Amino acid sequence: MYDLLIRNGHVIDPAANLDAPRDVAVTGGRVAAILEPGSGAKAIRTVDARGRYVVPGLIDFHVHVFPGVSHFGIDPDSTCLARGVTTVVDFGTAGGLIFDGFRQFVIDPSQTRVFALLHIAGQGMISSVGTLPALGELHDLRYCSVENVERVVAKHRDVICGIKIRCTANLAEEGRNEAEGLNLARAAADRVGLPLVVHTPGSSLTIEQILAELKPGDVLTHCYHGKRCGLVDAERRLLPAVRAALRDGVLLDVGHGVASFDLRVARALLDQGVLPDFISSDIHQYNVHGPVFDLVTTMDKFLHLGLSLRDVILRVTQTPARFLGREHELGTLKPGAIADIVILELQHGQFPITDSEHQTELANQRLEPTHVFRAGRQAGMLPRPEPME
Ligand SMILES: [Zn+2]
Repeated sequence: MYDLLIRNGHVIDPAANLDAPRDVAVTGGRVAAILEPGSGAKAIRTVDARGRYVVPGLIDFHVHVFPGVSHFGIDPDSTCLARGVTTVVDFGTAGGLIFDGFRQFVIDPSQTRVFALLHIAGQGMISSVGTLPALGELHDLRYCSVENVERVVAKHRDVICGIKIRCTANLAEEGRNEAEGLNLARAAADRVGLPLVVHTPGSSLTIEQILAELKPGDVLTHCYHGKRCGLVDAERRLLPAVRAALRDGVLLDVGHGVASFDLRVARALLDQGVLPDFISSDIHQYNVHGPVFDLVTTMDKFLHLGLSLRDVILRVTQTPARFLGREHELGTLKPGAIADIVILELQHGQFPITDSEHQTELANQRLEPTHVFRAGRQAGMLPRPEPME
């Protein structure tokens, strides 16, 4: 007798190389067995997933979930878990000076599983060009303390999975502090033995200068932006230095965001065989009511661009779980894994999708999460956020 049996669904679990009708049995918060349909297994609770997909709980690799402290921050449970995302990686919203509070008030109490990149700047993303004072996090490099990073990672290594920097000229004294900030972030990442994750849109550095600081396993986020310091030239051809870095093992993150996803760039790069490693939303206060809404909407855009459902699911399950070093228990439905599970309906119709350059196209299908389980316990769902006009 299992605790929970999700019957009659179509399971997609890239980590287990499974894409077939299966029943999923859960006991004690873990996946107990993957069964052939019609096995006759019994459970305290049965959920019928006929006509739907059953996949590992989604992992959104790029979010900002420190509400009330960062102006970007939103609540993870209502915007992520309630839309099928059981695990998130906060992308450097907190730096070392405020990380204890992030842990106490967000990471520990949230139902959503929250991992984090630590921002190289101690104050994290609490001010920016749109706030008063309009101070970017690299305006004063005294905030970028390698020693402080080392101290904070030692205390929170169980949840910190990398070091983040935003290379953007107007966050860094018109670019004057970018190169030195990047040096400090590189040094901090090396000191603590974690990957470096770099945001490049609007940088005064060249992509070649940034790539020179990256190592295999490091990440470029906002990989399909069309601004200064992107992956492509004016004809949207992949730059040779980027091709070399990808061959060497630098990873690409979508990080859709409010200003960082251009359908023309994405299409051009996909045509050249440049796929993202991570499909992520970069959901925050300024895009949750469009154009991002939630992670499944970003996944819809990649279905529209021609990726298979399995290839989309891979990039929100196994790949981010591996980055976290948790692929044995997250991002998979293999027996023994934590029973983070989402049931998805693939709806057919006409659905407008909009990128961050206000370009809208019509997609003919979209994903809608109908049930979400975190460690075997069902959590409440919320509808897709309303568009703000
Ligand atoms: Zn971000």
